[in-house]
Amino acid sequence: MIFKTKKLERSLVFLNETRDGIVSYSKINHPDEMILILKGHSKKGKMFVESLVVPPFHEAGPIFAGFPANQLPFDSDYIGMVHSHPVGTAEPSSEDLHNFFGLVSVTIKSPYDDEDIFAWDSTGNPIPILDE
Ligand SMILES: [Zn+2]
Repeated sequence: MIFKTKKLERSLVFLNETRDGIVSYSKINHPDEMILILKGHSKKGKMFVESLVVPPFHEAGPIFAGFPANQLPFDSDYIGMVHSHPVGTAEPSSEDLHNFFGLVSVTIKSPYDDEDIFAWDSTGNPIPILDE
């Protein structure tokens, strides 16, 4: 028997205009950070964002957006989260990676256009974002 060690290629797809939702929610909250939970499913490494959830009890400010993960109701449909970087690059900070949640961390940098959205795995490696 042969065991395959091929690494699962990961990718992310935004469905149901969730990309537009992320863009407009980031613009509304500017210059503060925003944070949203990504709801969806994953199939063979391909992750599909189906809807966005405003986390309960979240705090946001110019340099911090977060929520206590232990306050989250258990929901297996949560695949990760997205937050904005009102200043600087879209690269995840060490704090972002430390607070990694789910399968994917999405960041969006100012001025919040479609091409300002990036996806990362738990080690900070980029995950390609595909069109539907
Ligand atoms: Zn960040």
